[in-house]
Amino acid sequence: MAYEEACKLKHAYSVATTAPNFTHTPPKADWEIKNNTTYLYYVPNETINGVRFNKIPAVNTIPLIADMTSCLLSEPINVADFGLIFAGAQKNISIAGLTIVIVRNDLLKNEASPVIPTMLDYRTHVMHDSLYATPPGFNCYIAHKMFQWIKAQGGVEALYQINRQKAAALYEYIDESSFYTCRVEGDSRSIVNVCFSIVKSELEAEFVKQAKEHGLYALQGHRTVGGLRASLYNAMPIEGVKALISFMQDFSKEHSK
Ligand SMILES: *Cc1c(COP(=O)(O)O)cnc(C)c1O
Repeated sequence: MAYEEACKLKHAYSVATTAPNFTHTPPKADWEIKNNTTYLYYVPNETINGVRFNKIPAVNTIPLIADMTSCLLSEPINVADFGLIFAGAQKNISIAGLTIVIVRNDLLKNEASPVIPTMLDYRTHVMHDSLYATPPGFNCYIAHKMFQWIKAQGGVEALYQINRQKAAALYEYIDESSFYTCRVEGDSRSIVNVCFSIVKSELEAEFVKQAKEHGLYALQGHRTVGGLRASLYNAMPIEGVKALISFMQDFSKEHSK
């Protein structure tokens, strides 16, 4: 979707893709970065198929732009590796409607193209201390509360360790099981969106229904790909993952007879 939008403004091209399967990130050897490329855009964690870049793409001098909507504050990052980071607030930070942008100062020196509306020119927001128009105050208040909560948990590093444990426990159970399966390759697996399916896929609707009865919600995969998905953002405690695994064990026993 970002690619299609970029095409409306400038000449955009795809550096690499694993479409239509998305079972791993595209290997570096397959990337084709053309001369005169202004920036490289990528999504470190993709939520629909549960695919994650486990390394930051090394692109030398080309500014790297990252949509971190689903992963900002779920793991430590080196901000200096990026030209621009942005994230919608709705996963780990606040309510939908607030967007966080971290941009390198030197990238703000260039005049924006005249077709860019003033409101979408990042320099406008820098010049006005993010108050060019009235910001969504309640969303900012919730973000502030969330930042305090993250600090109280021991910070992003502590949450990252918990996030890794949550994902590892669930993938380990899925891999051991012959009832459930995960098609994403090991080193490309998201630590916050665990996408999986039941080998007998006709049981998935019943799985979602019974899970709800056990207080386990939102396990349906994204409508465009189907299957099942457990999103394990910062707000999900490890107890939630344990409860899910326990339910999955019971469900598989009941339906393997
Ligand atoms: C969650 C997410 C979306 C979807 O955003 P919604 O506003 O919740 O539909 C898009 N892009 C990325 C990178 C995301 O993580």
